[in-house]
Amino acid sequence: MAPKSDVSRLSGTDLIHADEAFSDTNVAPSISVSTTFKQAVDGPLAAALDITRDAEMFRSPDSKHVYSRYTQQTYSRVEAILSKINHGYAITYSSGLSAAHAAFLLLKPKRVAIRNGYHGVHGVLEIYKRERDVEIIDLDDDFRPGDVCWLETPLNPTGQVRDIKYYADKIHAVGGKLGIDATFGPPPLSYPFKWGADVVMHSGTKYFGGHSDMLCGILVVKTINEWGQLLADRTMTGTMMGSLESWLLLRSLRTLHLRVPRQSSNATVLAHWLHKIANTPEGKEHDGVPGGMVLQVWHDSLQGRGSKGDGKGGRPEFEPKEQMEGGFAPTFGMMLTKPEYAAALPFALEFFIPATSLGGVESLIEQRARSDPGADPRLIRLSIGVEDVEDLKSDLRRAFNEIKKGKAKL
Ligand SMILES: *Cc1c(COP(=O)(O)O)cnc(C)c1O
Repeated sequence: MAPKSDVSRLSGTDLIHADEAFSDTNVAPSISVSTTFKQAVDGPLAAALDITRDAEMFRSPDSKHVYSRYTQQTYSRVEAILSKINHGYAITYSSGLSAAHAAFLLLKPKRVAIRNGYHGVHGVLEIYKRERDVEIIDLDDDFRPGDVCWLETPLNPTGQVRDIKYYADKIHAVGGKLGIDATFGPPPLSYPFKWGADVVMHSGTKYFGGHSDMLCGILVVKTINEWGQLLADRTMTGTMMGSLESWLLLRSLRTLHLRVPRQSSNATVLAHWLHKIANTPEGKEHDGVPGGMVLQVWHDSLQGRGSKGDGKGGRPEFEPKEQMEGGFAPTFGMMLTKPEYAAALPFALEFFIPATSLGGVESLIEQRARSDPGADPRLIRLSIGVEDVEDLKSDLRRAFNEIKKGKAKL
């Protein structure tokens, strides 16, 4: 029986069984590192294969693998699950940024509308622009034919959401395409195709991988033709993930529906708690944490109806909760009142690890200026893991008090 799936729910059955047609007699998937595969006397001639024409064959469990720059068993299994749970045609890459680059090669924009978000994607665009006459414009500039709108939501590092439907309508009105970097909102939190996205990108390094141990990128498109084009491009640019990484990703996907909602609910509890602390004046305290240390907390759960996330754009009736239907972002930002506090806090904690990146089962905390050259030195990013949220609170409570009393190293 085919696993059941509906658009609003991340099915554990799909995560465990959507690759069943690819499996052998092993219960746990095998690690396959072979770069090349035995040819059959009566098999297809690799020289006669046309990837875009034969794209269905390359995705099929019966695909005769040729060479691992095209396909191999574990990528195919992983992509079968990713296609099912993202309700499109999914393909994997060596990193989130190589996936973003592949998306621009597919969409061939003359102008790209983008604002803020993950700095690396802006770096990719700089490279994309080198040999092309491409203009970068703002999300709220007027669009014209040939434009691509690239929207990151929820947004790094604040976890605030942008209105996908608003930007989809705006770019579709001129015949352009909408790409969504949904890294901060993996399934089951958000489903960008429902609101009009044309291409969805994820840094699979974050929530899909979920254990801070592998790099990968994911693109999801709506048609087999686009998927075939992406596979053909990937085969020639050599940007597939490693065979061992694909096995780690397959293993991680089995628990995506258990990890992500827990991370999301932990983050929502902490964001509200920190928000109350931010509203506590100097000299008072909230739940044992001194006021006057946290200036502001950002999170999509604090955004409210009609709020425009990072400033402009969006419909007045936009409801962040509708777009984040499976829970709010598990990563968010806060501004402390002093750069010294932001420098000290990551190193005064026991359960939060001072490190960049996000999405893993362990909570991470970072003074953002350490990784993003343009960031305010008071800005902190927190990626919340699957620990017990009361332990995370206690950890922060103790660290804030030690810093305030001058016990922690400033
Ligand atoms: C991490 C990240 C990327 C880049 O992904 P890599 O896997 O590190 O290449 C892109 N966008 C967002 C929002 C990210 O958090």
